[in-house]
Amino acid sequence: MRIVILGLGAAGANAARTIAAAGRRDVRVEIYGAEPHLYYARPKLPGYLAGEVSLDDLYFYPRSWFEERSIAVHTGARAERVDATGHRIILSEGTRVPYDRLLIATGASSFVPPIPGADLPGVFTLRTIEDAERIRACARECKRAAVIGGGLLGLEAARGLRVLGLDVTVLERGPYLLQRQLDAQGGAIFHREVEGMGIAIETNADTEHIERGAVVLKSGLRVPADLVLIAAGVRSNLELARDSGLAANRGIVVDAHLATSAPDVYAAGDVAEFNGTVYGIVPAAVEQAQAAAKNMLEHGSAEYSGTIPSNTLKIVGIDLTSIGQIAGGEGYTELRRADGPGRYLKLVLRDGRLHGAILLGHKDRVSLVSQAVARQVDLSRYGEAPLGDGFDWRAVLG
Ligand SMILES: Cc1cc2nc3c(=O)[nH]c(=O)nc-3n(C[C@H](O)[C@H](O)[C@H](O)COP(=O)(O)OP(=O)(O)OC[C@H]3O[C@@H](n4cnc5c(N)ncnc54)[C@H](O)[C@@H]3O)c2cc1C
Repeated sequence: MRIVILGLGAAGANAARTIAAAGRRDVRVEIYGAEPHLYYARPKLPGYLAGEVSLDDLYFYPRSWFEERSIAVHTGARAERVDATGHRIILSEGTRVPYDRLLIATGASSFVPPIPGADLPGVFTLRTIEDAERIRACARECKRAAVIGGGLLGLEAARGLRVLGLDVTVLERGPYLLQRQLDAQGGAIFHREVEGMGIAIETNADTEHIERGAVVLKSGLRVPADLVLIAAGVRSNLELARDSGLAANRGIVVDAHLATSAPDVYAAGDVAEFNGTVYGIVPAAVEQAQAAAKNMLEHGSAEYSGTIPSNTLKIVGIDLTSIGQIAGGEGYTELRRADGPGRYLKLVLRDGRLHGAILLGHKDRVSLVSQAVARQVDLSRYGEAPLGDGFDWRAVLG
């Protein structure tokens, strides 16, 4: 059986790894990845940008790792189209590659909002090694940077630029930073932590346009910047799927087996939409890839039921993790504790069961609380005790 994988990111590499681990002698795996690189850790790119992570440290496996597992890797190879009826893919340079099962793991690209001036020199996004290198090269010539977007990636990159010695301003459209990981109270505490690192923040900052030397906000404020980084989210890479007639909304639509609308064609990772959700995080890409790989080997052998979103900010000196449901609503109870600078703990319960948490400055209990959220443990008997330092999470987890 010939399994072809398109894309050598977290999803593609982990699918290949799962297939190889099955040790099936009758299965041949080929990966076609558009980038000139072997699989590397995108989450480490802000560290690479800051000069804290070396190029070698970005890569997961050397070429020999793939060779030892008989995984044929083709880098710099972009697929143009899937001929689902003919069971083959067409590469951009024209080669046709037949498959018995196909995994589309082509990921996502940085989203650039339609901001006038976004195409000026000195304006960047951060998704690849080359992006990080271009930003670094520009940073050597620059003094002031603006980061459009106060999400995880924007803040990690802002800190990287600060390490490189630039004056950095983060421009967040919403009323506080990390809108998807924090609530307003946690956002206010976090704001002070980020400012304490020497990073300026403008909230409610809607960009009007970018011009040479500045970002101009709708409020009229001119934020001086000779380097601008746009960190406004990502969009799934859907051209291939659309040109090939696969069903897609925000991502390629997959079912619980990660199967797409075409027979023997699967999708996983940032390119895939499951139950209306494109997760855009590594744990989801890995879980989907593992399930897709098993189903490619034997259809129906693995079911995927979703991933509990969990995000940790990777900024030295600030420990922030948010897990699952972080905002209550009807039927939810919220427990909160803000007990000092840089510290905030929030637990979100439904019918007494833990559905989500925000942990700022509470690194020691991240692992246990994550497990408790994953298992939706019942905390109804404990009142506000789970907020306390002495609370025995291990006992609750059993
Ligand atoms: C700076 C940064 C920091 C991040 N930090 C975190 C974090 O802390 N935690 C977290 O969980 N997630 C983080 N993410 C998100 C995470 O990197 C993604 O969720 C993950 O990479 C998704 O893996 P993927 O394999 O689906 O897609 P990708 O990693 O995007 O890989 C897809 C690959 O397919 C290739 N490709 C595209 N089109 C084609 C084609 N037609 N033919 C062949 N190949 C193609 C692409 O070039 C790419 O190499 C971060 C992302 C960035 C950019």
